[in-house]
Amino acid sequence: MCARGPARDSDGMPSGGPHDHATGTCAICARAIEGPALADHASARVFHPECVVAQAPEDALIRLLGFLALIATPTVLLWAA
Ligand SMILES: [Zn+2]
Repeated sequence: MCARGPARDSDGMPSGGPHDHATGTCAICARAIEGPALADHASARVFHPECVVAQAPEDALIRLLGFLALIATPTVLLWAA
């Protein structure tokens, strides 16, 4: 008789991976993003709008998106209230 049990590769698999959510950790400051976030689909990273503006990256498009998000965020909050 073979006493070996079945392999349990999937045992204890975590349900909350870092890639489970559309928003996650800011790629600039490494802090959790709560609320509006900017997503760079090319690199699959997300950023705080304020971090993007503060960092002033070379990518003009990202900078523009950060600027627009800073303008749009208070409007969205007022609209949602
Ligand atoms: Zn950040």
